[in-house]
Amino acid sequence: MAKKLNIKDKYRLLTRDLDWDFSYEDRKEAFPFEEFEGIKITDWSKWEDPFRLTMDSYWKYQAEKEKKLYAIFDAFSQNNGHLNVSDPRYVNAIKIFLTGVSPLEYQAYQGFAHVGRQFGGVGARVACQMQSLDELRHVQTQIHAMSHYNKFFDGFQDYSHMHDRVWYLSVPKSFFNDARAAGPFEFMIAIGFSFEYVLTNLLFVPFMSGAAHNGDMATVTFGFSAQSDEARHMTLGLEVIKFLLEQHEDNVPIVQKWIDKWFWRGSRLLTIVAMMMDYMLPNKVMSWKEAWEVYFEEAGGALFKDLARYGIKMPKYAETIEKEKEHISHQAWWTFYTHGHAAGFHTWIPTDEELDWLSEKYPETFDKYYRPRWELAKKMEAEGKRFYTKALPQLCTTCQIPMLFTEMDDPTQICYRDTVYNGDRYHFCSDGCKDIFEDEPEKYVQSWLPVHQIFQGNCGGPDVENVLADFYRMNLGADNMDMTDSPDEKRWKQWKGVA
Ligand code: FE
Ligand code: ZN
Repeated sequence: MAKKLNIKDKYRLLTRDLDWDFSYEDRKEAFPFEEFEGIKITDWSKWEDPFRLTMDSYWKYQAEKEKKLYAIFDAFSQNNGHLNVSDPRYVNAIKIFLTGVSPLEYQAYQGFAHVGRQFGGVGARVACQMQSLDELRHVQTQIHAMSHYNKFFDGFQDYSHMHDRVWYLSVPKSFFNDARAAGPFEFMIAIGFSFEYVLTNLLFVPFMSGAAHNGDMATVTFGFSAQSDEARHMTLGLEVIKFLLEQHEDNVPIVQKWIDKWFWRGSRLLTIVAMMMDYMLPNKVMSWKEAWEVYFEEAGGALFKDLARYGIKMPKYAETIEKEKEHISHQAWWTFYTHGHAAGFHTWIPTDEELDWLSEKYPETFDKYYRPRWELAKKMEAEGKRFYTKALPQLCTTCQIPMLFTEMDDPTQICYRDTVYNGDRYHFCSDGCKDIFEDEPEKYVQSWLPVHQIFQGNCGGPDVENVLADFYRMNLGADNMDMTDSPDEKRWKQWKGVA
């Protein structure tokens, strides 16, 4: 009599049962990447499958979500959903999302497919393959969610071309390239644990609640559809770290080094989210500082307390990062404002109400360091002297962010570090980025630094205009410069019947 199998047995038969013993081939040759990072796996059977999902039910479940999602995209399009956003300035946040974040979903798809091949344990392989498929779905659904905006706003037209070239997009691109060029276990600590488990709430919650607060139903719906995937990804991230720490005590210092590295890299990457939350959302969700306190200091703090029993400590630069929450959003938006001619989205000076909101949210720092700059910019703009920085900034060799961050104990001094390797001098935005370089210099001397490439003549021509128009394929005068008087703003006023 065929008995109906419970989900756990069914899962085992459809996944782990697909594994086989190597009778005439060397197992080590089949999984050549498993040992070079120094990680010791003594027993793959100890792996707890985090998803408990068969491929069969995976497809059915995802197809169901897909149907609903695309029905809503259709309705959004039919009803001219773009007219319901709070303010056209909002759309610039999703230009950053499409050009900077969606291509990372594609890199995640490639990265998880790769590690899904490289692990000796079948449970880990299956989980990574499923996440790989999720990520491919994410990039597709994001492109579809935002394609409606492409019909009505500038800056969406060539996101993947831009992702591979534009100066500030090399920051997210190089972050993921670094993870994918690492070994399989480092990739999992970088992306599965540090990013998906701990930092993802600081990327997705702000963007998705930002979308909800600002009437962007397409992005909200995508967010909901991705949420059940994210829950699985977080479970995988947590399983990976516990598994590695329980397998062998020699794994602990290796994992700690990766945690130190990837939390630093992650917090640098999230600067763009900080700026989006504090400056780009017309209807605010919460300040970056508040988000950091809730999602990192409270939630992450509890997690690291839990990991302490394995000998894992808080990420090395946690104290610096804690100070940075007061500053990074202001320093980043100011940099984009002063380089607004070279950005693929629009910039603006915060309104008076927004300046007051920032003063209230950052009582220690905003009035003292940042408000005076905006008051000056406002005065200059009123006098017709809108200021653009024409010089190209020096970039950090590790995170590739321009030298825009200050010393956290003296926010009037740019933070600058350097080191010499093989007779060449390399420059960094912080101790964290310098440490990462010095640990693996042969990796980071290969960094494709946009400003260096421009100066070497590899980016289209001698003038900034050549670089922007020919190499980046930006539509100058439409994609870049201020929101005020942009074609985006003019169209919006026309649609809304505002003179
Ligand atoms: Fe994703
Ligand atoms: Zn850096």
